[in-house]
Amino acid sequence: MWTWFASAGAVAALVSVWVARERRWRNRLRDQSLRLADLRTQRHLALVEEQSKQQALLDSMLEGVLVLDAEGCVEHMNPALLRLLGLSSECRGKAVADVVPLPGIAALATRAVQQGRITDHEVDLPGPPPRAFQVSAVALRDPDRILAGTLFVFHDLTQHKRLEDQRREFVANVSHELRTPLSLIKGYTETLLGGAMDQRETMVRFLQTIDRHADRLTFLIEDLLTISRLESGQVIMNMQPTTLRDVVEAVINDLRHKAHDRSVNLRDDVPESIRVHADGDRLQQVVLNLVDNAIKYGKAGGQVVIGARAAQEDIVEAWVSDDGQGIPPEARDRIFERFYRVDRARARDQGGTGLGLSIVKHIIHAHGGEVRVSSEVGKGTTFSFTLARVNDEAAP
Ligand code: ADP
Repeated sequence: MWTWFASAGAVAALVSVWVARERRWRNRLRDQSLRLADLRTQRHLALVEEQSKQQALLDSMLEGVLVLDAEGCVEHMNPALLRLLGLSSECRGKAVADVVPLPGIAALATRAVQQGRITDHEVDLPGPPPRAFQVSAVALRDPDRILAGTLFVFHDLTQHKRLEDQRREFVANVSHELRTPLSLIKGYTETLLGGAMDQRETMVRFLQTIDRHADRLTFLIEDLLTISRLESGQVIMNMQPTTLRDVVEAVINDLRHKAHDRSVNLRDDVPESIRVHADGDRLQQVVLNLVDNAIKYGKAGGQVVIGARAAQEDIVEAWVSDDGQGIPPEARDRIFERFYRVDRARARDQGGTGLGLSIVKHIIHAHGGEVRVSSEVGKGTTFSFTLARVNDEAAP
């Protein structure tokens, strides 16, 4: 009996040791798996965070990004690329040539894989609207150097190219405008030196022509300098409360002779009370260009009216109208472009530089206003512009 008790006790002790060890072992195992799970969750969270950071980066990029898989099918397109290509969805899994409407895109992907990378390749998208892109591509490989896909970055060159075209056109226009009076001056001078000086009457006529073209060159250079200063933002507007009627009277004084030469009557309908926030000298240039045009292109013996009204509590609308030939509808949007003229020969004959309205538009925009034109062919034209009003009634 005692032996049985003794051996049962020993077994119990053994079992309890074994149970305790088992429990300890199980606890360790649980702790380890908890730690492992924790580690895995942390790693997963870090990965998710990393992925969402990359996604946010791709989504916020101005450049278009395209990722292809190793078979050349679309894996990812960022929103900028969808916008640039005018696509509504990513078309994941489709062959790149079926999705991206850029000629030669599949060949470019093959070349990127063969060469490792392609930089600054220019492609044109016929449109509409036509667009131009600078494309860079790089082959993506995993750590074992096995091809994983291709990454493309698209940089939109459309605006840059448009500006480049405009600059080229501007330089060509300026050269042309300068060459015409210069070649006339040279031609008349050579004729004079070749013997025409013997006849006084001819000599005076030729010298007057030379003088007129030299003036034209001067006006052209002055207008070019004004335009370039306005466009580069170098002109600081000296905004002051300005009485519009004073500005109009100064212009009428300056152009009285010109109006008289064409028997044009200049009528000032601007109320004395209207004051605007403006740079007086620049505003005078605006009114001068508009009234000068109204005299030039208005009817000989006709009337030019300069008027203004308070359009709203804080806005003044001013206008210059004539009863001349008018402007055809298709030309109305273009007359504010540099060097655009409806009738080239006539505008040049009248000494125009083709820059007057462009200067008007720049100055009014720099004042925060708008310029408009309304016209009826054969009846006349009205140019109007808005400016900020000095509200004297609101003053304490
Ligand atoms: P320009 O020096 O040739 O007058 P502008 O820039 O002042 O240059 O004007 C551009 C063109 O707009 C002119 O060549 C002319 O064809 C047209 N234009 C401007 N004002 C008038 C007007 N009041 N009536 C008819 N055509 C006008």
